[in-house]
Amino acid sequence: MIKVERIDKPKELTDDIQRQLTDEFKKDKKKQVWNKSYIRRELLKECHGKCVYCESLIGEGHKEMHIDHFHYKDKYKDEVVSWENLNPSCPHCNKSKSSHDTYAEPIINPFEQNPQDYFCIKHYRYYSKNSEVEEIARRTIGVLELNDTENVVMLRFKVGEALIQEIQDICEFAIENKDILCSKTVKRNRVLRGCRNILKKGTRDAEYAAFMSSIIMGDSYYKKLKELLKELNLWDDELQELDEEVDKIKLQRNED
Ligand SMILES: [Zn+2]
Repeated sequence: MIKVERIDKPKELTDDIQRQLTDEFKKDKKKQVWNKSYIRRELLKECHGKCVYCESLIGEGHKEMHIDHFHYKDKYKDEVVSWENLNPSCPHCNKSKSSHDTYAEPIINPFEQNPQDYFCIKHYRYYSKNSEVEEIARRTIGVLELNDTENVVMLRFKVGEALIQEIQDICEFAIENKDILCSKTVKRNRVLRGCRNILKKGTRDAEYAAFMSSIIMGDSYYKKLKELLKELNLWDDELQELDEEVDKIKLQRNED
């Protein structure tokens, strides 16, 4: 989970329309008044195509976007189409959260709070960062099932381990060709492209960015690769910008 920013509500969702839809819902709770194409369109833009909770990519079928009402709609009917209450999520997180009452028992809302202040990670799992935030961090993990082995942890493991392998491969290739990297364009391009691709997997648009950014920044092969490129004067502005972006969103790792 990473901090996400709320964008402006769709222009179609005027105050009048909002009132009208809320009244419709109050009369008939089965009516999915929030399920409008203009709402879905803006939500998808807002979340960069990812669940705001677990950061899995939103797609078709079982990966389809669900619209989560942060404050449960059956109880807090006035917020049924309130833009600040609509969180784009995946089916897993939305179903796990279900009718949890976020006023009575608050959980972290990545639009409001920065997950970096609450979580640390270890072995593809979330933990509370410290004892002060333990209650809300643990509750958030439990309510959203963020450490569900089969549905979430294994998926993070798969992309994380592939990334670790990719970093090692590019780094070893760079070391083997160290003496000719400056003169051989094809080999140099391969290393620079490889390094950019690695970093892009840890930026805020990437799947499981909280984990991927932490993996990259903590990886000893990545550190070696970066040092080597700097030594050869091949570390450019684009790589520097990507590196800073990845570093900014990483979560604290707790590997003890
Ligand atoms: Zn999710």
